[in-house]
Amino acid sequence: MKGLLVYYSNTGNTKLACEYIKRHLANAELELVDLKHARPVDFSAYDLVGFAAWADYSGPSKLIIDYLESLPRQNGKPCFVFNTYGMFNGGTLKGLADRATRSGFKVVAAFALHTPENIPTMLSRGLTSAGAPDEKEREKFRRFIGQLEEICREIEAGRSVARRPRFGLLDYLTLFPRTRAKKEMGEQFVDQARCTKCGACKKECPYAAIDLAPYPVFDQKKCYGCWCCYNRCPQQAIYTNKFRGRWHYPQPLEEFRHKL
Ligand code: SF4
Ligand code: SF4
Repeated sequence: MKGLLVYYSNTGNTKLACEYIKRHLANAELELVDLKHARPVDFSAYDLVGFAAWADYSGPSKLIIDYLESLPRQNGKPCFVFNTYGMFNGGTLKGLADRATRSGFKVVAAFALHTPENIPTMLSRGLTSAGAPDEKEREKFRRFIGQLEEICREIEAGRSVARRPRFGLLDYLTLFPRTRAKKEMGEQFVDQARCTKCGACKKECPYAAIDLAPYPVFDQKKCYGCWCCYNRCPQQAIYTNKFRGRWHYPQPLEEFRHKL
């Protein structure tokens, strides 16, 4: 039984959770593909496919939506969707499921995992979710993986998977509209005294909005306000008018790593 999980992770929370799924899914060999460095994938080589991302202001990020839209039309390939979220998930999971369905996948399972918040605008408001996921949330996560195992068994037995994920009222809410993201972030600048011209920000930017000349130059038209460059710069050399030297989330919190 071969599975594929295409994930989009910025600071590592989603990647860590996907690695957890891979480790604990007992009856399938799950291959992980990082969407930031994605290669063309032949979905027909896999029995089950998954798409994972993080809640980007209560919805799925443009990167994963663009990716799903770019795929050749599928003919009912079973798929699951998964996302991580800090303070609020809103329509992220439902948005992923809808988009995958429109691309011709048959969405058979869906789950959102509560994780520490990593967006500086939220952290600066004291909205950290630092202790997430709690034991109850981890138990639900394990049950979701159990569900995936049942789905694998059904596929292996040649049965059509009839199950569908259920969504509640909260899955339709958009508390923090995406249009606020770039506005709240503002323009980025580089402290040249700190910057080592390492190029990590350019390499990690999901929207190809950074050039090195030789210091980073930001294309504000392409920038989506994802905070990846700000969070991941090893020198904390990137700053904005409102955020400088504070509220960074460069990698998953130790406590979170320990839980997963
Ligand atoms: S990641 Fe930081 S140190 Fe490296 S080039 Fe970008 S701004 Fe400079
Ligand atoms: S330049 Fe914009 S899109 Fe690129 S990593 Fe930075 S915040 Fe994200």
